[in-house]
Amino acid sequence: MTNHFEASPIHKMTESLNNNTFYIKRDDLIPISFGGNKARKAVLFFEDLIKGKFDSIVTYGSSSSNHCRIIANIAAAKGIPCHIISPSGSNQSTANSKLVELFGSIVTLCPVSEVGITIKRKLDELKIQGYNPYFIQGGGHGDIGTHAYVNAYHEILGYENSFGIHFDYIFHTSGTGTTQAGLVCGKLLNADEREIVGISNARKNPYGRQVILDSVNSYLMNLHKKKSIATEEIKFIDDYILEGYGSYNNKVLQTINEVLINDGIPLDTTYTGKAFWGMKEYIKKNNITDKRILFIHTGGTPLFFDNLEDLKNER
Ligand SMILES: *Cc1c(COP(=O)(O)O)cnc(C)c1O
Repeated sequence: MTNHFEASPIHKMTESLNNNTFYIKRDDLIPISFGGNKARKAVLFFEDLIKGKFDSIVTYGSSSSNHCRIIANIAAAKGIPCHIISPSGSNQSTANSKLVELFGSIVTLCPVSEVGITIKRKLDELKIQGYNPYFIQGGGHGDIGTHAYVNAYHEILGYENSFGIHFDYIFHTSGTGTTQAGLVCGKLLNADEREIVGISNARKNPYGRQVILDSVNSYLMNLHKKKSIATEEIKFIDDYILEGYGSYNNKVLQTINEVLINDGIPLDTTYTGKAFWGMKEYIKKNNITDKRILFIHTGGTPLFFDNLEDLKNER
């Protein structure tokens, strides 16, 4: 399996809300295990794993998550045993969970309250067996994950330079906030003027924003850059989380249908479709007009197919 990719494509969309021009960065087309932001992060985790001569992986997430699918796939390609600690109760059968099974990862279920201790036990068990296990935080959180989106930010700068344009806004789905932290670091390190707006799919403020702030500060501290930012500078928008993780309404479904029909781009109800809908609501609410707007498609192609029946019913 390839571990390398050129910049993911950026192209214009048909959407024209409030006379804004919309572009989309297709991280869903990163050519590794159905792409997505977890693929962008995973490439760097595996580089680190190989550099450190680790020989097994422990990570955390529901087996229906994009993160677990990608880690399980790359681990299988490299013949590295992969252990996934999953919160019990969050494991419906989905395209991702079937793929995780196919890739032969070993899933250990535990109550959410026992995740920390279960991870520790698994790591200890592997060490006793003579392994040197590599731990990846759920969702690929941490400085390495942040770095993946500093790289994405540089790809965006490269596109702007090539085509002589400037994006006034970058919108994307924010979950654990690692993607947003990387984009914000990229903006700070380049002293750029633009708004980066994360549309939360689950977390609320002030927690959601604080996690991003901590990630930004941790990353900059490791670079020995003393830049620091005020909490208010992190635009983490929690107005469109509905009933929380995984919840959506018919407006989200309508948005997904529109983008699918007009642009042929698959969005999903948990992450990208929900955020695309939230972005449009945010643009209306804040009366944003005549701007260049970039939406980052953070991936999750298999999720699109989990909701196909729902989409048909919304037509
Ligand atoms: C995990 C995920 C996100 C959230 O990314 P974070 O870096 O955790 O904020 C967004 N979109 C998709 C498709 C994801 O799988």
